[in-house]
Amino acid sequence: MTVRVRYAPSPTGDPHVGNIRSALFNWLYARHTGGTFIVRIEDTDQARLVPGSVETILDALRWLGLDWDEGPGSQTPHGPYVQSERLDIYKEHAARLIIEGKAYECYCTPARLDAVRKARQQARQPTGYDRRCRELEGARQAREENPSAKPVVRFKMPEEGNITVNDFVRGEVTFDAALLDDFVLLKSDGYPTYHLANVVDDHLMEITHVMRAEEWLPSAPRHRLLYEAFGYEMPRLIHLPLILGPDRSKLSKRHGAASVLEFREMGYLPDALVNFLALLGWSLDESSEVFSKDDLVKHFTPERILANPAVFNIEKLDWFNGLYIRDMDDAVLADALVPWLEDPEHGLPANALPVNREYLASIVPLERERLKRLSEAPEMLSFFFEERLHYDPALLVPKGLDADGARDALEAALATADGTDDWSVAELEASYRALAERLEVKTGQLFGAVRVAVTGRTAAPPLFDTLAVLGKERCVARLRTALTAL
Ligand code: GLU
Repeated sequence: MTVRVRYAPSPTGDPHVGNIRSALFNWLYARHTGGTFIVRIEDTDQARLVPGSVETILDALRWLGLDWDEGPGSQTPHGPYVQSERLDIYKEHAARLIIEGKAYECYCTPARLDAVRKARQQARQPTGYDRRCRELEGARQAREENPSAKPVVRFKMPEEGNITVNDFVRGEVTFDAALLDDFVLLKSDGYPTYHLANVVDDHLMEITHVMRAEEWLPSAPRHRLLYEAFGYEMPRLIHLPLILGPDRSKLSKRHGAASVLEFREMGYLPDALVNFLALLGWSLDESSEVFSKDDLVKHFTPERILANPAVFNIEKLDWFNGLYIRDMDDAVLADALVPWLEDPEHGLPANALPVNREYLASIVPLERERLKRLSEAPEMLSFFFEERLHYDPALLVPKGLDADGARDALEAALATADGTDDWSVAELEASYRALAERLEVKTGQLFGAVRVAVTGRTAAPPLFDTLAVLGKERCVARLRTALTAL
């Protein structure tokens, strides 16, 4: 059997982490087995559509490198892959069930359905449709009350008994049929509901495994009966565990969970996010954590999907991101930083642009350890590029020295810089250590004052590497400015 799996998002906004995790797991399974990964757009709930979200969803997949074999726009035989382009197929299917006595038209008005629900709630009965139109007489009455209404089509569910579905992760799960009403298959606007479209398409697109979030498990008993009614074989169900926040509550923005493209804007790397998402509900063993995409493809099997809820921990994502940043080649990282540094809104000041690539390449090795997100680069690297540093002159006075002492030290440091021709890390370190001795100040005091003078900050990469990269001219000028400031 060739595996055919699908990611079936509804275009109701930007794809969130839980949603894209489903995409990733399906993609991994397809790639692991040499199967087919399909993207199907489930846009049947017209009221919830958000314009532009199909493009956003596809953009997110592209950014993460989750390529699809069939999807919107593909000229493959199982298309079209957008449900609103398949309305006739669903209508035919609904009509077939009506003819076979497995579904029926319902003319009840929303007002009546509401009243039924309220009455049932008060009587402490399961809410849901009371099946009036399932009987001829009821349907006749409803039609009389509502002659101009367009009917919906409802599926005839058993009124009692158990419905069992087999889930790959959870085993047999049993549902009480009495709690499930005659759900709608086709709405009065001619659009199918999720249940009908999902089942029909999974069959027609020859989906072998349905891998989706656990939130969809309650739909499974309805789907099972629909497959039976059509005489279709049901794909294997694989429900992925819930994703919770670290406090074990429902995952939300508060936990740092954002839409996938927001993670891009925050400066995360796609491979770091993929690694992080893969571990939300899957593990290879007790300890392995770092997986490249290729590793994941190699190891991913549904057998290792976990049943317990996964915990979304944004700090873990930061950790992964730092790890992947440290793993990038200098040139690749430098290229990746350019758009962040040149961003008109959050990047470097205009007079530092365009970024000198060669200079940037020399900075990257100094800063990579400290970078957790690419978005931190403008702030972290700005002192390398700014023409004038803005800082508090008080920072120039190291602990244990007064302003005069600091001035003497910086004057001597300026003279040393001026007199140093071999502007190398080793030479700079040797001269400044000798200078501290000569001035009879602690190295920490001298180095601290110089660091603030040339970087404008107290925390920066190792001093002599920084001086070497900044270059003699900049350092001399900055030491002079610092002296003036003092
Ligand atoms: N359209 C559903 C969603 O947005 C798909 C659920 C499923 O995979 O069956 O998640």
